[in-house]
Amino acid sequence: MNLLELVDSANAQGDAKLLRARGELRDALAPTRREGGAIGLVPTMGCLHEGHLSLIRAARAECDAVVMSLFVNPTQFGPGEDLERYPRDEQRDLRLAAEAGADFVYAPPVEEVYPDGFATQVEVSGELTGVLDGDPARRGPEHFRGVATVVAKLFNSVGPDVAWFGQKDAQQALVIRRMARDLDFPVRIEVLPIVREADGLAMSSRNAYLDPRDRERATALSRALRLVEERAPAEGLAAALAAARAELSAAGLEPEYLEARDAEDLSPVSELGRRPVLVALAVQVGAARLIDNVLIEPRPTQENP
Ligand code: AMP
Repeated sequence: MNLLELVDSANAQGDAKLLRARGELRDALAPTRREGGAIGLVPTMGCLHEGHLSLIRAARAECDAVVMSLFVNPTQFGPGEDLERYPRDEQRDLRLAAEAGADFVYAPPVEEVYPDGFATQVEVSGELTGVLDGDPARRGPEHFRGVATVVAKLFNSVGPDVAWFGQKDAQQALVIRRMARDLDFPVRIEVLPIVREADGLAMSSRNAYLDPRDRERATALSRALRLVEERAPAEGLAAALAAARAELSAAGLEPEYLEARDAEDLSPVSELGRRPVLVALAVQVGAARLIDNVLIEPRPTQENP
């Protein structure tokens, strides 16, 4: 290893700079902004895994300054959800974020984001948020209001040129795209594929809640989605979804929802057609509510090669 590589690897092993206040964040980004450099943002709730890291690496490859936000946003959790026990490990997150290429980790306290008297909400209404809700006792309409509001605030605080999100939360990515478009946020939204464990389970911070037996049962989610992907073209969506239900049921799992919808506007679809179809599910597996999805691209046709 030469000296330059040594310095690089020392930097890579150092922590990313931790910022708690919006003012500090603005000051830290000022030089990049002054020089016309590109700023990238990766919003997360921490407890990082390879899914998050894939987003940070993509931001690093394209931007001059990379900010990862780390904020377990209380307003997007329903009353029956897991806000209190959501896994947190800031030291580990700082190290992993830096190794993946983040320059700054913006981890504000709740009062910085929601000061006393906070009274403004961003709501993307209509079909994008009124579907795929699952059990309203667990996750209600406040969820996407909380997500859209906090992401709007992060866009204003960071001022990113590009922001990265995961296809794992497909509906969330659609909601954020729509919000950015409707409210004229000058930011490009990038959505990257789902990163999975070797046995197919989509990576998620909530996988930490699974005991060994539930961890094994959870592999049925991606198997069920693969069945839909494989069978729908020949057998039709209804039969493919029935096969997926049977796969879940064999693992003792009952989905909160398992649905096929238009991948761009979430309108209902009954058959594969000329537009991409999103097949999404949410399932309670032991202590964890897990979500997963697959995107089925239209088959090329003669008119539409
Ligand atoms: P979270 O910390 O769960 O709020 O996720 C932060 C970002 O990482 C969101 O844009 C997620 O969609 C994305 N993400 C979470 N899990 C994965 C995964 N397995 N693959 C790709 N992206 C993911």
